[in-house]
Amino acid sequence: MESLHCATCNVEYPALEGMPVLYADPQHALADWRNRWRLERQRLHRDASNAAQAVATASAATKTRLQKLAAAYTAQRQSVEQLLAPLLVGDRGAARETLLGLRTRLPRITARRVTTPTSPAIGCGAKRKTALL
Ligand SMILES: [Zn+2]
Repeated sequence: MESLHCATCNVEYPALEGMPVLYADPQHALADWRNRWRLERQRLHRDASNAAQAVATASAATKTRLQKLAAAYTAQRQSVEQLLAPLLVGDRGAARETLLGLRTRLPRITARRVTTPTSPAIGCGAKRKTALL
C-alpha cells in the first residue's frame, strides 16, 4: 500500500511499511513523532553517558551495574531507532532549540493509555483525543 487519499477532506494518508497513517493531520503527526523520538534519543544518549562517567568513581559491584546500565541505554536507543527507521527516512533532524520552541514533549504514558496532541483520527470529523494502545 502506497498511501490513501480522502477526496472529501483532500488529505493524503501516507503508509509506513504498508500501514496507513490515519491521523487527522498525518504530516503533522509524523513530524511530531519524529520530534519526540529526537528528544528521547538525546535523553537515552545522555543517560548512557552519565552512567559511563559514573563508573570512574564507583565501587567494583556498582561499576559492573553502571556499565550494564550504559550498555542497555545504548542498546535501547539502537533498537528503537531500528523500529522507527521507516518513520525516519529522509529525516534531517531539527535543532534542540527548535524542538523546545515547538514545546515538543515526550508522550505521557499513563497505565496503558497514551495521550498525544495528534491522536489517531477515528473517522472524518472524529472528536476523540485519546487512543488505547
Ligand atoms: Zn475524509
